[in-house]
Amino acid sequence: MLSREEMKTDKKTYTVNDELYQRFPVKNQAFAIVSTRDMGEPSYLGFLEKMHQRLAVRMEREDPGFSREENAQDLGANALNLLLGSYGFPNHQFLKWEPLIVPEPLTKHKTKKPPEELTEMVKKTATLYGSDLTGISALDEKWIYSKDMDKPFIITEKGKPKETEEAFYLPKTMNRAIVMGFLMDEPMISNSPELKASTATSFGYSRMGITAVSLAEYIRALGYQAIPSMNDTAMSIPLAVDAGLGQLGRHGLLITPEYGSNIRLAKVITDMPLDIDQPVDFGITEFCENCFLCADHCPSDAISRGEPTMETDYQTGNPGVSKWFVHAEECLKFWQDNGASCINCITVCPFTFGFESMQCFECERCAERDRGCILQNNTQFRVEHGFLKQDRWADRGEILPPRRRGL
Ligand code: SF4
Ligand code: SF4
Repeated sequence: MLSREEMKTDKKTYTVNDELYQRFPVKNQAFAIVSTRDMGEPSYLGFLEKMHQRLAVRMEREDPGFSREENAQDLGANALNLLLGSYGFPNHQFLKWEPLIVPEPLTKHKTKKPPEELTEMVKKTATLYGSDLTGISALDEKWIYSKDMDKPFIITEKGKPKETEEAFYLPKTMNRAIVMGFLMDEPMISNSPELKASTATSFGYSRMGITAVSLAEYIRALGYQAIPSMNDTAMSIPLAVDAGLGQLGRHGLLITPEYGSNIRLAKVITDMPLDIDQPVDFGITEFCENCFLCADHCPSDAISRGEPTMETDYQTGNPGVSKWFVHAEECLKFWQDNGASCINCITVCPFTFGFESMQCFECERCAERDRGCILQNNTQFRVEHGFLKQDRWADRGEILPPRRRGL
């Protein structure tokens, strides 16, 4: 069994072709492409309209998993997400780039402490506010969006983060990203693609918003700049990889040693001088090469069965980074036909619930690997550290939620 310390790697966690790679514009995300097509004008969340129309039909028909009560639970779970940040728009709603409640005199004087101490304070406070896993990365400019729906993100030498009529300005001095992971509720996720799984996702988003907004205010009260961010401003998954939270899987999502794929991500970008974490390698790339469970269970056939590649024809993909590209437009079209979002790829990923002996029939190559069965190693790690209860290899493990404090 690898400890977290032993998982740390000095190797580059991404292979990037700098000549090919360009920062990605938000308007090329599947949400924006499908929404803009549906609405006939630039839109980011317009795709929801078709999805909700379909949901109304399924509720009316009383399809299993699409009851009015289940929909009510989903709406309640989503309330704080929509109030705080609506999945994430830069400098919007409560995701403001300026202090919300912190008195101005406090923002003018920085708390002077060594980076090590500040890092510990920030991580403890992120946990207190609701983060289940926190890491810190240097903010790699590659992962900052080139443009929101209509305005560019311009990186400046110094100053404060700000928005004008023309652009969003991010100073280079804001060179740290505090990346936070939020465990989604089990057994709700097991019901994907029904409304219960959507509720787990919605609640994850609400918790992302509460925690990112709260942590940004905490940092501002210590005199530093902070940008709370959900899906906006910069890409959360590569930042999470850089921050050592986990590795990228075939399904295009993060896989963490502690919670597998069952995690949502938010971040706070700051100029606080924080120590950075090291990326980890616990064998996910090798494992995914031989595992196709997410692709097998994807109802829209959106997940690649090939090798990682730098190139893609998908408008939603960004060439220049070696990875498995996901046909995100097809994924979203399935959500619309289904009447609710889908997380099948998260639910079936064996790193979500840990090793079950039946899975050995799915895998034939573990003997070739230096590290033995990567999944069994990770399952032992989770059991040992209290993230999973696994009495018998024959049974599905039980995800043990962390004992949260605070929000
Ligand atoms: S969310 Fe569902 S449809 Fe989309 S890639 Fe994952 S399994 Fe496929
Ligand atoms: S289901 Fe298998 S191939 Fe897909 S991300 Fe999880 S481990 Fe990788």
